Order: sequence, then structure tokens, then C-alpha cells
Amino acid sequence: MSFLALVSGQLYAESVALPDIAERFGTPCYVYSRASLEAAFDEFERSLAGTDSLVCYAIKANSNLAILNLFAQKGAGFDIVSAGELKRALAAGAAPEKIVFSGVGKTADEMRFALDSGIFCFNVESAPELDRLNQVAGGLGKKAPLSLRVNPDVDPRTHPYISTGLKENKFGVAYEDARELYRKAASLPNIEIRGIGCHIGSQILDPDPFFEAADKMLLLTDRLLADGIHLSHIDLGGGFGIRYTDENEPPIGACLLPILKKLQGRRLKLLLEPGRRLVGNAGILLTRIEYLKTGGTRDFAVVDAAMNDLARPALYGAVHDIVPVTPLAGETRSWEIVGPVCESGDFLGHGRALCLKQGDLIVIRSAGAYGMSMSSNYNTRPRAVEIMVDGSRAHLIRRRESLEALYADESILPS
Ligand SMILES: *Cc1c(COP(=O)(O)O)cnc(C)c1O
Repeated sequence: MSFLALVSGQLYAESVALPDIAERFGTPCYVYSRASLEAAFDEFERSLAGTDSLVCYAIKANSNLAILNLFAQKGAGFDIVSAGELKRALAAGAAPEKIVFSGVGKTADEMRFALDSGIFCFNVESAPELDRLNQVAGGLGKKAPLSLRVNPDVDPRTHPYISTGLKENKFGVAYEDARELYRKAASLPNIEIRGIGCHIGSQILDPDPFFEAADKMLLLTDRLLADGIHLSHIDLGGGFGIRYTDENEPPIGACLLPILKKLQGRRLKLLLEPGRRLVGNAGILLTRIEYLKTGGTRDFAVVDAAMNDLARPALYGAVHDIVPVTPLAGETRSWEIVGPVCESGDFLGHGRALCLKQGDLIVIRSAGAYGMSMSSNYNTRPRAVEIMVDGSRAHLIRRRESLEALYADESILPS
């Protein structure tokens, strides 16, 4: 479902004309749709209706408080990877007992903060991390709830940078080592074993790898039971793909139904950690064309958004659909859509057949996930403003940074 529609020659986000948003808030500007965010979450909830399950939104995909708050209100849990994300989640109204803590490098301080907050569980990714968690929990006189992130060695058939469940990845513990590590965990005084988890990659369009991973996890669960280790949940991670241009987005039901069948009669709570799928197509990046630079070997449209705002094209060669806000009836040219940042890799789109005019607005679609959250201040550029549309209203959910704020935490040497 797209929240964009062309009405009388102008692109609207829900019921708000995008030129009005640009006028009011300036560009570059991220625009999110409340209805799309909620629809994406509801697709999971519908597929999981009547089951013992919890959808933990992976905050790193987009961590704006307004978005976290919407999901929290809908009963979502959250998947965090840092103390900062925990702090954000709590500030946005998240229930701590629905938070899972992932990541390969949790510090002792982060563990203490999460234990004090009363999170649902730690997704532990290595033997030394298990030792540290036991120690930190002991220091607080607590038992740390644990799930091991196991690497099922399943090929998610996605981009190598975003596949995480293969043996050579840094994430999780090897499948073959998991049983022994659980036995060790069971012997530790300040650990309470809760579950098992995996996360095999991102932007997965073929559901089969999810089924393969589920089978492997369940096999391990049975073996653990033989060792006297009972698990109460299984976390199959995130990675549900979205349509960027012409991909076939797998329906969530098609991904989950076979898994729910496998879980029947097992008394295992199912956790999921979707990020991209909940926010990716609920957001766009709105940008204005500063210059059309033609006459060389290529034609460039220089826009006011750049790789510091949306890194995915430069970082992964990701392809985002790009559309004009006020389509012109004229001849199209093949445009390089580039930003003002001083890097040749600073592009948002290659060879786009569009009819463009200097000063016009264009939209980079499917920018809700890993857009703002991966943005930086490179070239001392203030990060984009964020807006959420809700019907006919547009709400400012993050104001544009001031130039002064960009160096406010810096100081010069005393003379
Ligand atoms: C990034 C990540 C997710 C979310 O991935 P998406 O592809 O955005 O769904 C979930 N779990 C873990 C552990 C992650 O690292």
C-alpha cells in the first residue's frame, strides 16, 4: 500500500500536498505516513492473531520517537542494539518487559542499564558475552534472562552486506557450538535461560530461508530438551523484504503460516524482530532540485538531499524509486540524481528517465527504513527534518538541526 497519490497533478502524502510540506518545513525532509506504519504493523498482528507471539520492532531501522510511540501504543515490543536505543524506547513509552537486546558488543554498562530496566531478554551472541552477562547480573543480585542468538547457516539469498545468518558472519554463535553454550548457561548462577533466536539477514523476499531457519532452530530446541533445557520462546528475527522498485514483497501471512504450523503443540512463544518491513514503505525523502547540470557526458540533477541523508544507494548500491512531485508532460532524459556532498559516490539514483525542471521537488521512495537512522552530519550538513502525516495533518516529529548544534559539543584548545 502506498500513501502517495497524484491529485490534480500534485503528489500527496495521505491528504497533504507535498509542496505544502516543503513550503512549511523545508527540504530535505523525511515524510512518514501514520496509516502506512499502522498498516504494516497490522499485517503482522493479523497473521499472528490468536497465537502466543510478540512483534519486536527493530529500532535501528528508524528510531524516531513518534514512530516508536505509535508501535508501542499498538502493543509492539522492541529490539534494541544499544543503551541509546533502550533509552529512546523507554522515552517513547515502550514496555520494558517487551524489549529484547541484540548486538555483538554489549558493554557491561549497557547490560546493567537493561537489567535495571527489566527487559524481556538478552540475545547473547558469544561465550565471553555470556560470562560478562552472568557477572554483571551477579553484581546486581539479579538473574539475567537469556536467549542465545544461534547462527543457523542459512543462505537468505539477499545482498551480502545484509546477510547475517551464514557461518562467516560476525553475528551469533555457531550452530554446532550452541548446545554446549546452553549447558554452560544452565550452570551459571545469574542466568535464566528463556529462549533461542536467530536473524538470518535483511530484505529477504523468498520465505523459504525463514522456514529453513525455523526447522533448524526447532531441531536444536528438541536437542536442548533432551539435555534438560527448556525454552519458552523462539525468536526468528527480522529481515522481511519490501518492494523498492519491482520486487515481489512476500505477504507476511505466507512467511508466518508455515512457521506457526511448525510451532503447533510446542508451547513456544514466537518472537519476531521486523525493522524494514514496518517502516520502509511508510516513508519518503522529499528533496528539491537545486541545479540541472547538462551538456557533459552525463546529465546531473543536483538535489538538496545527499548520501548523508540517505546512505543506502552509496553504501549498498540500493535502488530507490524516484518520482517527481509535480510531473511534467515533456521529453524525459536520463538523469544522475546526485547530492551536494563532496564524494563521487554521493548519488541517490543513476540513469533515471525523468522530465525535470530546476527548483522542482522530487521524492525518493521507500526511504522509511535505514534512511534517517543511518544519516550523518558529513560535510557539516544538518540532518533532515522529519514529518509525519496523519490524514490531512502534517506533524513535525524532528526539527531540522541548527548549524550551531552541529559543533555545540566541540571545544578549541585553551590559548
Ligand atoms: C537489523 C536487525 C533486525 C531487523 O532487520 P530488518 O531487515 O530491518 O527486518 C532484526 N534483528 C536483528 C538482530 C537485527 O540486527
